Amino acid sequence: MTRLPASKAEPGKRREASDQAQTGAKVRLATVWLAGCSGCHMSFLDLDERLIELADAVELVYSPLADAKTFPEGVDVTLVEGAVANLDNLEMALQIRERSRIVVSFGDCAVTGNVPGMRNWLPVDDLLNQVYAEGPGAPPRGDEVVPALLPRVVPLHHIIPVDAFIPGCPPDPERIWTAVSALLRGEPVILDEPMRTFG
Ligand code: SF4
Repeated sequence: MTRLPASKAEPGKRREASDQAQTGAKVRLATVWLAGCSGCHMSFLDLDERLIELADAVELVYSPLADAKTFPEGVDVTLVEGAVANLDNLEMALQIRERSRIVVSFGDCAVTGNVPGMRNWLPVDDLLNQVYAEGPGAPPRGDEVVPALLPRVVPLHHIIPVDAFIPGCPPDPERIWTAVSALLRGEPVILDEPMRTFG
């Protein structure tokens, strides 16, 4: 996660998180999976015993690791895994921004497009034909079942303002903890240079 320009870091948001820590109020945390492979969430689980410390400090209000069906209002921090590749991702990204004080691009797919972005050199129709009609899969089943693909896969910050970035494919648990624990303390998230690598 890199230091943010002042215009995006919004210290007021961080102060609110710090105030919550001081009053004992739990931080409302969400994690979201857009166009990604879930590897970033698996790395999150590798926080191991630090998950217990995290559980004391946060209320997990939405996550693929939980059972909430709709993204709630009033979220403090949202970690977003994955790029924006289809209309569902696009609508979710807009809703996340509207309902979250701090949005974090979590992993290389969210930060750069990464693996899902590898389809960008193909027109969408050619891609669907190759995967579903000419390849081993079934023919496309229509927009009601398969969300319409965007012409290009884009990183999250191309769609909404993002407050912080955690690179890595996946980010290792140390950098995840460095970033998340700083946010919980209401501090700016600054990763040392070795933690700013991609891949
Ligand atoms: S950044 Fe890597 S581990 Fe995370 S969702 Fe993308 S491909 Fe998977």
